[in-house]
Amino acid sequence: MIDQAVELIRKSSYSIALTGAGISTPSGIPDFRSHESGLWNNADAMQVASLSGFRYNPLGFYTWIRPFADLIKNALPNPAHFALATLEDLGMLQAVITQNIDMLHVDAGNRNVYEVHGHLRQMTCINCFKEYDSEPILKKFFENKEIEVPRCPACGGALKPNVILFGEQLPMQVFIKAQQAVRHADLVLVAGSSLEVHPVADFPVQVRRQGGRVIIVNNERTVQDDIANVVIRGDVAEILPAIVDKLASE
Ligand code: NAD
Repeated sequence: MIDQAVELIRKSSYSIALTGAGISTPSGIPDFRSHESGLWNNADAMQVASLSGFRYNPLGFYTWIRPFADLIKNALPNPAHFALATLEDLGMLQAVITQNIDMLHVDAGNRNVYEVHGHLRQMTCINCFKEYDSEPILKKFFENKEIEVPRCPACGGALKPNVILFGEQLPMQVFIKAQQAVRHADLVLVAGSSLEVHPVADFPVQVRRQGGRVIIVNNERTVQDDIANVVIRGDVAEILPAIVDKLASE
């Protein structure tokens, strides 16, 4: 299977990667759907992580997200992220589209990254829409023992990290660029995504429909395994470096 994936990537002229939470679990950040992570086990998670939930009860959101954000703060890219960075350096990967908010693809060295579900670099006031760099605000947030809602220095409104919550539109400019990459793609390498979150989950279907190839690397079955040309079941932190090592040594 690895050899087949290598062959498809070698033959492609415009390949993209589509990544989900599973590419960052080897960096210590749990995905949402695996049962043991706990992030989704809280019955209210869907409500807490929604835009309306945030507006109604920002403290509930910050209480829920604090342990998750703490893991992201301390996480480093793992061999799967570095493999994709090497692939881009080799000229064999044109873009990474990620659903992750952890910024680890950029940290690993990928340059053409579309973070379609947002990121934690900035925060926006939900009242006056002023934007701020997150770093000093989150530093203070984590120093406080008591959980406090970060507030806008200008108007006192609650600050929301620039991550996309349920019920919120995707960042338009980034999403359009991601769509353009998908339109050009003759291969998509999906890594660590259940492919259950739309509209991003439509991308492999679109690549297939326009005659391109789909490779899925995931440790469990995904809903799109049937449309893939190659499915590799295993740990992304082992499989992606194995694929890229072969391509680099050719
Ligand atoms: P998901 O939780 O739906 O799916 C992750 C998939 O990766 C699962 O099928 C899981 O079995 C698989 N997986 C986990 N670890 C793996 C490994 N080491 N090797 C191979 N496969 C592995 O994630 P999703 O599809 O990205 O959707 C969840 C949503 O939650 C996204 O919208 C994302 O924004 C958000 N999220 C982000 C992060 C992050 O930024 N790191 C973490 C959790 C959730």
